[in-house]
Amino acid sequence: MTELLMTPGPTLVPLEIRGAMSKPVIHHRTPEFNDLYFETVDRLKRVFKTQNDTFIIAGSGTSCMDAAICNTIKPGDKVLSLVSGKFSERFADIAKTYGANVTIIEADWGRAFDPELVKKALTPDTKLLTMVYNETSTGVRNNIQPISDLLKGTETLLLVDAISALGGDEFETDKWGVDLCIAGSQKCFAAATGLGFITVSQKAWKIIENNPTPRYYLDLRKYKGAKPTPFSTPVTSIYGLSAALDLIAIEKLENRIKRHAENAKLCREGVKKLGFELLPESEDICSNTLTAVKSDNATEIIKKILENHNIRIAGAQDHLKGKVFRIGHMGEITKEHVEKTLAALEDAIK
Ligand code: PLP
Repeated sequence: MTELLMTPGPTLVPLEIRGAMSKPVIHHRTPEFNDLYFETVDRLKRVFKTQNDTFIIAGSGTSCMDAAICNTIKPGDKVLSLVSGKFSERFADIAKTYGANVTIIEADWGRAFDPELVKKALTPDTKLLTMVYNETSTGVRNNIQPISDLLKGTETLLLVDAISALGGDEFETDKWGVDLCIAGSQKCFAAATGLGFITVSQKAWKIIENNPTPRYYLDLRKYKGAKPTPFSTPVTSIYGLSAALDLIAIEKLENRIKRHAENAKLCREGVKKLGFELLPESEDICSNTLTAVKSDNATEIIKKILENHNIRIAGAQDHLKGKVFRIGHMGEITKEHVEKTLAALEDAIK
């Protein structure tokens, strides 16, 4: 029997999406596919809540992290990176790779950022500020608005990774003034891994158009105006994404967000009742799509839940390895799945 994926991505891919992905492959440069593709992009924009240009990249989420940076940054540019976990650290690493002069503002893994520290570090020559909305490595949801407020009227671009939240939690690309927002197929969309999404504001285009940094596959200028994409489009993955967007439309985005919040609360209450402590320092910064839990027996618990209940939860990275386990409740995960996982957890610690 297939194991139940209660990991924070990839997550359970429902039959409707798997079925759509088994349709015959048509050629990507046909009017028929072109229509499907742009209709899918339009529906994706509604999930991002944006009027900005939006692109689908054949690559995992990191391809969009890379694209956002190599298109906007040239060597020596000042980048401010808010780092409080594995994925926010990745942004800083990518920016360094492209020669940026990176200033890191750190928060302990499991804590939120102090906007005052960001304010102090922000200078008029800061080209880009990077942050992760939902830090999947710690289960912390960061507040975007206080940071984007600091950037109003400045030249600095705001880059936000919403990979593990978009489609499952509140996100307002335009209202929050996010210049570049990225997401991926295998998290709250509940589709298969392999597609990255990126939105680009007019303010960002002005930089991108003239940025001399060498780039080829991820050059966003190539994607603008392409019909449908500059390189071969993964037709099967687009079928899957289209079916994922159908499921979102049927449930309605606001109901889906509510379900994620309810399941997150259920999971948090459940683990606390079993005597565990959450990794995030307070409930108000907890993610709605995954729960990160402290435990010195994390490795053993993960193993027991898998072996005895066929449910896969995740461990943690770097210094939290073996000390934290993470339960994903994103995409099509239901209340029953969360309850089943909590029961398995209870059994594992008996
Ligand atoms: N950013 C966040 C917040 C993530 O959760 C992940 C994956 O877990 C990534 C980036 C990287 O995405 P991918 O593994 O699809 O490249």
